[in-house]
Amino acid sequence: MKIMNPDPAPVFFEKCAQHGLKITPQRKVIYQEVMKAKDHPTADAVYKRTRKILSNISFDTVYRTLLSFTEIGIINLVEGYGEQKRFEPDPAPHHHFRCIKCHTIFDFENDSYDHIPVPDEVRKYGNVTNKRVVLEGICSKCSKSK
Ligand SMILES: [Zn+2]
Ligand SMILES: [Zn+2]
Repeated sequence: MKIMNPDPAPVFFEKCAQHGLKITPQRKVIYQEVMKAKDHPTADAVYKRTRKILSNISFDTVYRTLLSFTEIGIINLVEGYGEQKRFEPDPAPHHHFRCIKCHTIFDFENDSYDHIPVPDEVRKYGNVTNKRVVLEGICSKCSKSK
């Protein structure tokens, strides 16, 4: 028996309604796939996973849907580094350690990073509404395989 995806969280329906985004089976599945992901997936990765459920879906639909989701704020984009866009399902404040070799992004929480003081120099540019610390390095898997 095929296990059906449970319905998305209420926030999905609320935000879509608020922004006039129609609820379609495609959008539901794409959203679910991002929320399930633990790897900050690229649009391509989301597309491949979505296609297993909706075999006719196009990459373009997935890509455009992901961008609409980031516009209405139900998913986030990971800060970019000139590589493919990566999507962030976790709305809770957290920080990233990214491996510069395999591009894996590890999530971590740290109370003092959450409360990192904003330098005066930055204050003059505007109000800070989100703080994320990004650490870069080589993950333990990559350091082992030389
Ligand atoms: Zn690595
Ligand atoms: Zn993250």
